[in-house]
Amino acid sequence: MLTRGRWTWQPRLNVPADICLPAVLCPACQRIRDKDPHHLLRVEGASAAQEKALRALARRVERAESATHPQERLVPVEGDDGAVAIGTTGPHLARRLLSAVRRTWKREVVVVRTNDVETRLRWQTTKAPRAR
Ligand SMILES: [Zn+2]
Repeated sequence: MLTRGRWTWQPRLNVPADICLPAVLCPACQRIRDKDPHHLLRVEGASAAQEKALRALARRVERAESATHPQERLVPVEGDDGAVAIGTTGPHLARRLLSAVRRTWKREVVVVRTNDVETRLRWQTTKAPRAR
């Protein structure tokens, strides 16, 4: 929009242009902006299809959790070494996500180790149906 002869991304606010509004971000938005998760779920060995299913599950759990806890959200982070990384802004979402993963793929996904800041999981190579 055009404000006082300058193009800006600012929505039209009834504030004089020389008053600087502080950028207020809640802690969850800060973590998302900084890609600084409270807890990181790291899953090794997932195929592309398994990664897709995992991310879809994460979004469903996030929707359910953030309905009652708006501060519990997913943090987009880069994986490393082919692992899928899913960050969360808080501990509740991390716990719910972990239990949903274990419920959904109880035979396929094993917990390698877990602590306050990170949980490492591994997708077991599932045996192919009996070869003939
Ligand atoms: Zn926020």
